[in-house]
Amino acid sequence: MVVLVFNCGSSSLKYELFETDPEQSLAAGIADRVVVRAGRDASLYHEPADGEPLVLECPMPDHEVAVGYVLEALTDSEHGVIRDLTEIAAVGHRVVHGGERFAESVLIDDDVIAAIEQFARLAPLHNPPNLQGIRASRSRLPSLPMVAVFDTAFHQTMPQYAYIYGLPYELYEQHGIRRYGFHGTSHRYVSQVAAEMLAQRGIRPQDQHIVTCHLGNGCSMAAVLGGKCIDTTMGFTPLEGLVMGTRCGDLDPAVVPYLCEKLGISVREVDALMNERSGLLGLSGVSSDMRDLRQAAQSGDERAKLAIEVFCYRVRKYIGAYAAALGGVDAVVFTAGIGENDAYVRRRCVEGLETLGLCLDGSRNEDKALRGQAADVSAADSPGRILVIPTDEELLIARDTAAIVGGTSLD
Ligand code: ADP
Repeated sequence: MVVLVFNCGSSSLKYELFETDPEQSLAAGIADRVVVRAGRDASLYHEPADGEPLVLECPMPDHEVAVGYVLEALTDSEHGVIRDLTEIAAVGHRVVHGGERFAESVLIDDDVIAAIEQFARLAPLHNPPNLQGIRASRSRLPSLPMVAVFDTAFHQTMPQYAYIYGLPYELYEQHGIRRYGFHGTSHRYVSQVAAEMLAQRGIRPQDQHIVTCHLGNGCSMAAVLGGKCIDTTMGFTPLEGLVMGTRCGDLDPAVVPYLCEKLGISVREVDALMNERSGLLGLSGVSSDMRDLRQAAQSGDERAKLAIEVFCYRVRKYIGAYAAALGGVDAVVFTAGIGENDAYVRRRCVEGLETLGLCLDGSRNEDKALRGQAADVSAADSPGRILVIPTDEELLIARDTAAIVGGTSLD
């Protein structure tokens, strides 16, 4: 089945076209700076799997125009990968927040759209552009079935004691204040690959204890027991948990009123400070990008060193916490930009965890030849595995879409 996957941000629209049987990516690309300044500086980058990329500068005042350019690129005689749009069987959409209603992916209808709209109050920066993408593609491809795949869905299996905050219970009941978790599609994808790798070593899927670490610009971890998420580091919003590129992660909430009073700034300004000027950027004063920090640290920058230490320590601490939550660890998985590429960070994140049965093979961890593929970087006799698994959220969205539209079960 040919499935088109969309991941819509407020000013960008990423897409990938898949054949799902057998699985193959046909083309991928991004429409960028959509809507910004009426989309006048917008561009489309389209890359067929076998062929030359297409770069177009074209005005894209809204997502519907952007979808139009994407569809043209996919069918273009020179850079296209399908003859015409009738070859596309379904469209899958990434949606950030599915609240408590969606524990798995669903076929989109008016009722689902209304629910996504309702959850926009919980994800005001993400659900509205996700919806714009859905509406734009429904208008351009009105006869196609569409599926929503939620970032929060994988975490809906968390037990209540893991997702509830120690606040008055009425705030949960009346305002939905609880931990939801994000990056669920990535945690689900890499935990499935890890589960297959563990099964090959004779550990039955229902008995597996897996900790997944998604370390990109945004960072989160999940504790996965027998294929089900039982805890995750992000919470009500993607601010909780690990130290990230620009986000502070876990913090004593009393810091917020203290800063408001001391600095005479509003809650909104503190919120922006915690989301946009903290984390690796705030600690180092250098950059939010781990590559820059590693370079600065090598040149002796003490704050860059500190930022990396804090980052790795937080991951290490959560691995320990999740070992306790799971009752052991069969595998720790590293994924996303930092997790897949930065051997030093991986090493620091598992340092001293031999007592939990996690022993690294230093040279496999550094082996650049293993990049881009699922790799086991633990020592041969390590009781638990340390795995590096490239994430592929788009592929999982395509799989879910094909399964729902084809009437087969998910996973
Ligand atoms: P996003 O969350 O935006 O999808 P990515 O998963 O692309 O982000 O991760 C971005 C992060 O990955 C940045 O901090 C970047 O420095 C880091 N990164 C990418 N490649 C490398 C690398 N080779 N070594 C170290 N860090 C890397």
